[in-house]
Amino acid sequence: MSRFSPLAAILIALAVFLLDTLTKLDIAIAVLYVAVVLLALNFAGQIGIVLIGAGCMGLTALSFLISHSDDLIELEDSLARCLVSLAAIAIATLLGFRLKTSMNVLAESELRYRTIFLATGVGILQMDFRGLKDAIEKLKSGGARDIDQAQELDPGFVHKIPKTIRLINANETALKMFNAADITSLERMLPTIITAHMDKTWKFLAAVWDGDPGYEAETVIDGAEGQRLKVLYNVAFPADRPALDMVLVSIMDVTARRAAENQLHSARTELAHVARVATLGELTVSIAHELNQPLAAIVANGGAGLRWLKRDEPDLAKVQSSMESMIADAKRASEIIKNLRALSKKSSPVAGHVNLNEVLEETVALVHREIDINRVSLHFALATNLPQVTGDRVQLQQVILNLVLNAIQAMSQTTENIRELLIESIGDEQAAHVKIHDNGPGLTPETRKKLFSPFYTTKPEGMGMGLSICRSIVAAHGGSITADSQPGLGTTFEFTIPKEAEAEAA
Ligand code: ADP
Repeated sequence: MSRFSPLAAILIALAVFLLDTLTKLDIAIAVLYVAVVLLALNFAGQIGIVLIGAGCMGLTALSFLISHSDDLIELEDSLARCLVSLAAIAIATLLGFRLKTSMNVLAESELRYRTIFLATGVGILQMDFRGLKDAIEKLKSGGARDIDQAQELDPGFVHKIPKTIRLINANETALKMFNAADITSLERMLPTIITAHMDKTWKFLAAVWDGDPGYEAETVIDGAEGQRLKVLYNVAFPADRPALDMVLVSIMDVTARRAAENQLHSARTELAHVARVATLGELTVSIAHELNQPLAAIVANGGAGLRWLKRDEPDLAKVQSSMESMIADAKRASEIIKNLRALSKKSSPVAGHVNLNEVLEETVALVHREIDINRVSLHFALATNLPQVTGDRVQLQQVILNLVLNAIQAMSQTTENIRELLIESIGDEQAAHVKIHDNGPGLTPETRKKLFSPFYTTKPEGMGMGLSICRSIVAAHGGSITADSQPGLGTTFEFTIPKEAEAEAA
């Protein structure tokens, strides 16, 4: 249309000029120049519109002069018509000029946002969630109070999501991230992408359900070259579009950043490990040093006693004295061991009221990186009636941390695609129970026997102290710890801490 606009404008201008000049109609024909100015909006710039407007006004005046040069009768009426036409053209030119100015500003801003949209390093999807919003409204009117209840009523709801949302647009970065040729093929991939992140999808639905302004989460996707990409995504529900017809999903590749963080984290863990080994080394040296003396004395006295015995006439009094010295040295050695034990118990536990559910959640948050790196799917089943216990929060955290890390390490050896870690708490009249289930390789009969023994480990870099420390911490809290395992199906560690006395809890 705009290709023919200049030609159409010229033809109209010519037709109006001829009609205006050659006919003697009693109407302001020149008003039709307004159409020329309006057509000019399609092809001329701001200055062009002003020039065309001025040209039309000039033609109007010219027609007036030509057609009235010889007759002065009816001059008044014609002049009035000419002035009306000139005013109409001037107003149309002014409005056209202003319209063109705002069109230019709009086009510029559109270009700016388009450039940002296309060229940014963040993947952006423009989506229409109206269908999803309607489906959620239906669940609400079906009686579901919240998303948890909706999940119970319709567990397969997440599978219906792809049919309720539409992908309107996606930028280059997003297409590259998902290795999609175009928007249609990316839209076709949506069901797979959504179901692969099912555990997070319910949380996302909760945000839509609650009318939150947005939802943010981190997840792992398969990159263009088959590599695993860690991405941070944000789904923004603009407040001025409550129908959710324009939802923006931005996706940022944070693989390199997380890799650097993980390196830092493992360097720290390594350092802590080295520090632990070094402390243990120091302890060993000091134990050896302390014990060396009485042990050497025992050996010396034993040797002397034997010599007195081996004489032709054994000197039993000397043998007796050697043996008494041996006993005294052995007692000294045992005294040293007792002192060392007392020393290691020096940091007496700090007793306080502890809610094990809270400790479980905050401890697992500490190892979210290990959970992600090993692609472990984490589930909580926490009892709402869990009794409070009395104990040292930090020590109990140490127990949970050790059990969770052991479970993750055990599962990382399996090629099993779905690595499931279930953290459960159960409350009863007497105690709070915590169960950590994994679907790792399980325990061999030998491991099962030695599991809690100090220094027993099957890991190349293990210390074998974790479970023995867990057992002493749990025992110091008046509880117990057990392990149950089905080879090939995983292991469950359970520890129990007695409920705190009523008087204490108050
Ligand atoms: P470490 O972790 O340093 O080896 P631990 O005392 O924590 O020391 O664990 C001792 C051993 O028990 C481990 O080396 C491993 O063989 C076994 N183990 C612990 N937890 C599990 C588990 N969840 N699944 C299978 N084996 C386990």
